[in-house]
Amino acid sequence: MAIDKRLRDHGLNSERLLWPTKGPGAFENEVAQMERAVGLTTLEKAVAWAQTKSMWPDTFGLACCAIEMMAIVSARYDIARFGMEAFRASPRQADLLIVSGRVAHKMAAPLRQIYDQMLEPKWVIAMGACASSAGMFNNYTTIQGVDKIVAVDVYVPGCPPRPEALMEGIIRLHERVLAGIPPAYEVRGVAS
Ligand code: SF4
Repeated sequence: MAIDKRLRDHGLNSERLLWPTKGPGAFENEVAQMERAVGLTTLEKAVAWAQTKSMWPDTFGLACCAIEMMAIVSARYDIARFGMEAFRASPRQADLLIVSGRVAHKMAAPLRQIYDQMLEPKWVIAMGACASSAGMFNNYTTIQGVDKIVAVDVYVPGCPPRPEALMEGIIRLHERVLAGIPPAYEVRGVAS
């Protein structure tokens, strides 16, 4: 598939995790060792590193999943480890939208407005079955997946996903950014 090829081209680490026998090549190991030894990097890598260490989520909760999302700032899960504990009340100060819960059609316009007001680069996590695909709500009130109105970077499965699962999704997103993969809106575009 085109997207898979794209991820491979960018060297996404998590794909290797899904394929345990395939580790980094000898050349990649040598380059990594050399970079560590002499502190080589590129501006793009330094910017990507900084982005993953200061990715501020928007304060946005929709349903039951939001309670699990709130837990990630607690001492037990401690999202401050990644410099992400500052949930911003203004989308203009946020670069990560965690869609935590089902999206009713009434909420589509406000959600899209918040997304549009976020500055680029910006990322979206669809948290839970409802945000990803409407879950059990196969009816006329609920949008059948938030990716119909915004470009989603990471889907976190579960109903509700545990805070650990959301943390896993955040780490996967950080891996994508560090690997130089562009945000989803650049890869797939956004419906107008
Ligand atoms: S996925 Fe489950 S917990 Fe999350 S909003 Fe839907 S029904 Fe609630």
